[in-house]
Amino acid sequence: MTQDELFKVLVAHCKEYGFIFPSSEIYDGLAAVYDYGQMGVELKNNIKKYWWDAMTRLHENIVGIDAAIFMHPKTWVASGHVAAFNDPLIDNKDSKKRYRADNLIEDYLGKIEEKMDKEVEKGRKRFGDSFNEEQFRATNPNVLREKAKYDEIHNRYMAAEAANDFAEYKQIILDCGIVDPISGTRNWTDVRQFNLMFSTQFGAAGDDTSTIYLRPETAQGIFVDYINVQKTGRMKIPFGMAQIGKAFRNEVVARQFIFRMREFEQMEMEFFCKPGTEMEWFKYWKEQRLKWHENLGMGAENYRFHDHEKLAHYANAACDIEFKFPFGFKELEGIHSRTDFDLGNHQKLSGRNLQYFDPETGEKYTPYCVETSIGVDRMFLTVLSHAYTVEQLEGGDSRVVLRIPAPLAPVKVAVLPLLKTDERLTGKAREVLNLLKYDFACQYEEKDTIGRRYRRQDAIGTPFCVTVDHDSLEDGCVTVRDRDTMAQERVPVAELRARIDAKVNLNNLLRNL
Ligand code: ATP
Repeated sequence: MTQDELFKVLVAHCKEYGFIFPSSEIYDGLAAVYDYGQMGVELKNNIKKYWWDAMTRLHENIVGIDAAIFMHPKTWVASGHVAAFNDPLIDNKDSKKRYRADNLIEDYLGKIEEKMDKEVEKGRKRFGDSFNEEQFRATNPNVLREKAKYDEIHNRYMAAEAANDFAEYKQIILDCGIVDPISGTRNWTDVRQFNLMFSTQFGAAGDDTSTIYLRPETAQGIFVDYINVQKTGRMKIPFGMAQIGKAFRNEVVARQFIFRMREFEQMEMEFFCKPGTEMEWFKYWKEQRLKWHENLGMGAENYRFHDHEKLAHYANAACDIEFKFPFGFKELEGIHSRTDFDLGNHQKLSGRNLQYFDPETGEKYTPYCVETSIGVDRMFLTVLSHAYTVEQLEGGDSRVVLRIPAPLAPVKVAVLPLLKTDERLTGKAREVLNLLKYDFACQYEEKDTIGRRYRRQDAIGTPFCVTVDHDSLEDGCVTVRDRDTMAQERVPVAELRARIDAKVNLNNLLRNL
């Protein structure tokens, strides 16, 4: 299966098994807006809990908040979103499709990188063990030719971005001969700016003064609450504030399922520190966050750091953690050193004193801030795209199994009476269910053959199936089937809780951090 096909199959699987539905589907859906179904909400909640506990429980100096989505309109002036939260748009006149000009150029650059990688792979095959990749990249004429092309376009693109030069964006697109993937033509409009914030009317006044925005990031809720939390929590610098909540962006292009949505959820943490110490904390948080990801066991090779060469005006360091999605390495999380930009601007615009008084040194300063920001939905997509596996079984059969890290699985245990017609079995199975349901998310299923029921649980990623059969009535044991190995084992009912807990308890994950 190609990665493209895999992605389509994954989207269909998400719908079939109640993970994700297009929003308002009975009205043919709403572009780039999705609903989480009965399985999806459980997985999403588990991801959020893993993040929340890792932040607030494992760090004594990090506390959580839950700020409102509606914020005073001046917030977005202070944060720079009113003036600068724009995407460069371009339309193809033939297909009438709209694109982000920066994405078109980045995709083009990505293709050049792919070509270079292919040359390297060819070299690796040809030279075998004696292959030296660094030397090959520095000397192979095909790689060098592509590299020169890449550097030229990349430099022009960086300069255009820094200068907000839209005419140059268009010129690059024309010079590279970039065509619309749908119409195949180069019939492009000029590049224009588009602000990504949704606005709406607040209250009944109906004039301009009542225009407010749906927050495009949760971080500003933290900045405007900073002083309240610092004072009431008697927080000492350095300390962090964490928040999980919805954010809204009127994304121009939204064609990658839950990777880029117009309504999504973020998990953000702002870590306030003394000016001059921010680089240490930036390094610390880069390491911490990568560890958090790798701890899920989804393959260290699927993550990489991408340091930003060009920094936003408010940042003095920035890095993405990228994950290998079915459509390539893409941003999953951002780690930014934001200086005192946000608190400083809120201080200016609100007229309130947001300075910190250091009781030990007697100094006063506006704290610097290091941010970690990850989309819950993107995280969900990493888990699902990594988990989805089609496995060939002996005898020519196959099964679809979601190898979701067990502590994140929506259902932890399925309790299955072997036959639904035998009340002794269903009664005993319900007894087992009642024993387990306080500790674990359980599902009771009695319909269909046991084999079919196993397959259904595999398809939603349930780590354990517990089957009650006639022997169970005599010996007090049940059959426990493992999702990943399909191995079956007889286990006394009294030992079930501990056996399951060892694998699915979220605290085990947290202990490894
Ligand atoms: P991108 O370059 O992909 O548009 P960004 O750099 O604008 O992302 P940030 O503003 O740094 O993203 O947001 C932090 C995180 O929020 C991202 O790393 C991503 O996980 C998530 N995120 C941002 N925009 C969206 C979206 N439209 N849909 C889903 N998640 C998003």
